Amino acid sequence: MTEPSCRVYVNWEHFRHNIGVLMKKGHELMPVIKADAYGHGVERAARELEGLGIGWAAAGTLREAALVRDCGFSGHIVSLLCRVPDEEDVRLAREKRLVPLIHNREGLLAVKKALADTDTLDIAVKVDTGMGRLGFPLSEMENVAAFLAENPGIRPIVQVSHFSVADEPDEAAYTAMQCDIFYRAAEIMHRRFPSMRCSLGNTAGLASQITQKDDICRPGLALYGYNPLYGTTKQSDCEGLLPVMEVSAPLISVHPLHKGESLGYGRTYRAESERIVGWVAIGYADGYRRNPAPGTCMCIGGARVPVIGRVAMQMTCVDLTDLPRIPAPGDTVYILGGPGNAVSAQDIAGWWGTIPYEVTCLFGRNRTE
Ligand SMILES: *Cc1c(COP(=O)(O)O)cnc(C)c1O
Repeated sequence: MTEPSCRVYVNWEHFRHNIGVLMKKGHELMPVIKADAYGHGVERAARELEGLGIGWAAAGTLREAALVRDCGFSGHIVSLLCRVPDEEDVRLAREKRLVPLIHNREGLLAVKKALADTDTLDIAVKVDTGMGRLGFPLSEMENVAAFLAENPGIRPIVQVSHFSVADEPDEAAYTAMQCDIFYRAAEIMHRRFPSMRCSLGNTAGLASQITQKDDICRPGLALYGYNPLYGTTKQSDCEGLLPVMEVSAPLISVHPLHKGESLGYGRTYRAESERIVGWVAIGYADGYRRNPAPGTCMCIGGARVPVIGRVAMQMTCVDLTDLPRIPAPGDTVYILGGPGNAVSAQDIAGWWGTIPYEVTCLFGRNRTE
């Protein structure tokens, strides 16, 4: 693989700060560090959580969960994205004390098949409360509980479900319905497994305190400094977070663009007056979208500069004309974060028509440290 010309910096002090903010909500936490910790690096995230004494973590695949264990995290590690486990998966889960999330009959039967009579395996049981993605429906929970009671080697230590609209205050009724289904399922499970824990809330659920007090909450986005309730009436439920990821790249060319001249592929930008433009070494190969909305900016010396013309594979042009001091090739441009009037992942998400989750996941692929 070739090294990207942009640089991704991850501020782990901010990550720790954000966990502190979330802890104040009073729930036990199962920080979600799936998908390489939303692009920030799952290995370091695992070590940070261990350093903070966190007891649970949620990874994506079972391999990612194993990596979290190998990084020294000593608590429970739930694999949210567990496929129907084969024998090797079950062996790995047992060896590394991982907690596969079992969400269908096939999964339960596969675990049973792979376990010898005296073996045990801790699992998480997923209930579908309205996401329509993974999980047993409420109507199946009696059967699930009975199956587990007959197979005592398979130990449900936590019941999980996931909100689909907890970040939309207007949809509170749907979220309340999800809660209702979840706790009814938990009641069924608790008759046979009284010490089983419950885990329902994501960041938005934790922030707006809609789950039971002794639930374990699973914040993801907020760990990395972003508020899923941003722009809603509940925005203030999730404040005080600090952004963790920063992306910069060098200016590689600075030159005048005379009135009437054009630049870039498609000649989509034409100078209506004398301009000074600069090319930044980041493009769509680095996850910087080719079609940002008008108004998209980067940041140089603490000031925002507009992106102009078409984003190329490894280069993007900015208009430097209005800066008080014209920068030189080699100067650093902040694409995300940095000093001054910094661009946030929320801003970029707005320009790209997406959410901050996708922004950090995409940029995270350029991490080299
Ligand atoms: C990604 C994920 C989360 C975290 O959601 P955020 O909105 O980032 O807080 C929690 N639970 C499950 C099952 C997930 O897949």
